[in-house]
Amino acid sequence: MSSLQHHKFLSRSPGQGFHHHHRVIPIRYATSITTITCTLIKDNPNSNHLVSQPQRVSRAPPVIPLTANDPGLKSTWSHRGWVATGCATVLFSLAKAAVGAASVHIWLEPVLAGYMGYILADLGSGVYHWGIDNYGDASTPGFGSQIEAFQGHHKWPWTITRREFANNLHSLARVVAFSVLPVELVCSDPVVLGFVGMFSGCIMFSQQFHAWAHSTKSKLPAAVVALQDAGVLVSRGQHADHHRPPYNNNYCIVSGIWNDLLDRNKVFEVLEMVVYFKLGVKPRSWSDPNSAWTEDEDAEITI
Ligand SMILES: [Zn+2]
Ligand SMILES: [Zn+2]
Repeated sequence: MSSLQHHKFLSRSPGQGFHHHHRVIPIRYATSITTITCTLIKDNPNSNHLVSQPQRVSRAPPVIPLTANDPGLKSTWSHRGWVATGCATVLFSLAKAAVGAASVHIWLEPVLAGYMGYILADLGSGVYHWGIDNYGDASTPGFGSQIEAFQGHHKWPWTITRREFANNLHSLARVVAFSVLPVELVCSDPVVLGFVGMFSGCIMFSQQFHAWAHSTKSKLPAAVVALQDAGVLVSRGQHADHHRPPYNNNYCIVSGIWNDLLDRNKVFEVLEMVVYFKLGVKPRSWSDPNSAWTEDEDAEITI
């Protein structure tokens, strides 16, 4: 019998463990920050007297659920500052592209480049989301807080609809400010600037599109519902599938236009196999039971 079965058996009726015929009965139960492995051993093969040998095994602290009015969902002035900087960076890129296009009288190429930026931002959002959903943890350099936030999102998806605008966007706004500003300063090609402006703008706002995908139709502005229904923004139905078993599809959260193609061709599953065979690292979506992904319905609040 496996330790898990023992666990369930002993949870239902702890006293029955003493009548067990096996000699070693491992029990696992979780505390807030540690797993205590408690091994019950018969001290004498001929007696029924059991001794306990507890050993503590460190594990990562659990992600704490947020309550509806939790300060962690509010925007700070730092969040607002980063989102303002990110927006200014994107607008500056698009404005510089427009001025450059006007000066050389070309419009089609910068507009097409901007459209390509919008299309490829959806693919970029999917690759990034797949990466942080499946690899690393809170201690991963550079990405730890995003990985932790997305794990928390899978446990308590409703919190994203209560998260304030700048709180939701500030991490990506910071990345956009640092990565796009240098391009703007050295580049004056309207085609490049059109692409970079739209790509980075869509990436930065992908968390807002994601939040709208979690909302209910009645709570969204009519224009947002129309854009979702037209496939311009990721739809509520498509993203809902991402939060259902097997939790390994519909990663794209800008327009969702790449989701069907990527999932039908099992692109992320192939990438997971490549990572596993090259680096020996399994993605979280392979874990069974899938506790890291399953929504904590006890903590869900109807909004
Ligand atoms: Zn996810
Ligand atoms: Zn989601």
